[in-house]
Amino acid sequence: MAAVGTAETPLRVAVVGSGPSGFYATEALFKCGKSVTVDMYERLPMPYGLVRSGVAPDHPKLKQAILVYDKIARHPAFRLIGNVTVGRDLSVQELRHAYHAVIFTCGAETDRQLSIPGEDLPGSYTATEFVGWYNGHPDYRDRRFDLSQEVAVIIGQGNVAADVCRILAKTVDELKHTDIAEHALDALAESRVREIHVIGRRGPAQAKFTSKELRELGELADADAVVDPADLSLNPQSVAEIAAKSNEVGAKNVQLFHGFLADPLRPKTRRCVFHFLRSPVELLGVSRVEKLLLEKNRLEGAPFDQVARGTGEKVELPCGILFRSIGYKGLPIDGLPFDDRKGVFPNIEGRVRDGSGAVPGVYCAGWIKRGPTGIIGTNRADSVATVNALLADLESLTPGPAAGAEVIYPMLAQRNVRPISFDEWLKIDAAEIGRGTPKGKPREKFTRLDEMLRVLRV
Ligand code: NAP
Repeated sequence: MAAVGTAETPLRVAVVGSGPSGFYATEALFKCGKSVTVDMYERLPMPYGLVRSGVAPDHPKLKQAILVYDKIARHPAFRLIGNVTVGRDLSVQELRHAYHAVIFTCGAETDRQLSIPGEDLPGSYTATEFVGWYNGHPDYRDRRFDLSQEVAVIIGQGNVAADVCRILAKTVDELKHTDIAEHALDALAESRVREIHVIGRRGPAQAKFTSKELRELGELADADAVVDPADLSLNPQSVAEIAAKSNEVGAKNVQLFHGFLADPLRPKTRRCVFHFLRSPVELLGVSRVEKLLLEKNRLEGAPFDQVARGTGEKVELPCGILFRSIGYKGLPIDGLPFDDRKGVFPNIEGRVRDGSGAVPGVYCAGWIKRGPTGIIGTNRADSVATVNALLADLESLTPGPAAGAEVIYPMLAQRNVRPISFDEWLKIDAAEIGRGTPKGKPREKFTRLDEMLRVLRV
């Protein structure tokens, strides 16, 4: 029998998820020198995961990664099978039978919880919902955010918090020529939010913003970045952190915070106020969020290992709308082991494992493998490592030909699931671009599944 990976018996791989790690895994497979086919499964009709529905609309350069993915998708041995949810429309077992290997690159789709009283009061939202909403993700199309409030709070000081802050702080003129969803632009045009408080549980040296994102918050057309100079004093461990050569970002961030104003002379319409060493302990309000109760913290531990410890001293911050932006978490899929604490598939070097060892032929890459860290490019090396593990296992994978999507398509038809191919996505893509052109936008996204299917006359 011909070895798997030869022209006679190509290695057939299913990739589940069409974000960066899925495309980088596909690229690594196509570059490995073996004969390989890749079928990429995606639950939405459109590919690209967080590059489409996570990257902020005012960061078009970051979306250029799509040009690379588009090229990979045009490889003759690639198929997109969109609009298909693995774990619902197809079982993991069915995929495992149809392919030599399955690589899960399904990301981290939900949020970490604060687990404090009042977290779910009306007016308190997750950053994921808001980001999905302004980016036109169909799951969040019908969310409503009460932007009639003047004071907003964002919990967390990572790049997602920076995105949420910018979108709240920017003027319509700063957003109207981006690919922001129309419904979001309309709602933001009516926003009465004037003060945006961005809360960090640790100090300015530990904020997780990248410096470019933080700098942008100080350069907005009609919003000031504000910080109390007293909040910028550092303990000796933090001084050591920002002095370390390996921590240019920390040092730059502290410098940027020093450049923010304590009290602008001619204030702009909006203010983004940064607070440090404060942890949320309770959201208070009768029928909706009215106040946030914070506990003051001090830092404990060695440089780069400092954790926030409550001092017992509490302060209140009135607020009308609140966004929790404290990191994402993966979701389990039926038929696969799951580490609930970390929100990832348990794995060693990308080989998914359960209690009895590696699950044959099942791999993972990206955020579902390592957790929600890093920028888009970080996923390339991560996916290459997983593909290398898969290739090292080649001889132990099920021998002989695998049927691939040929056995899957009839199952989907029987279940009334209509898969969307890459060529069909290109038609939706062209229609979106056409809708954007008259408005001077790169595209006007379809935000409902039925609108997308209508383009295909399905
Ligand atoms: P993140 O960078 O991990 O930031 C999470 C923030 O939440 C941190 O400030 C963290 O503080 C805080 N936090 C966590 N648990 C908390 C709690 N219980 N109470 C209070 N604060 C808490 O996560 P993210 O902002 O969701 O970003 C995810 C990844 O996507 C990051 O790697 C990010 O760089 C990337 N991303 C990149 C871009 C871009 O390149 N433009 C845009 C968006 C996202 P501690 O530090 O104390 O844990």
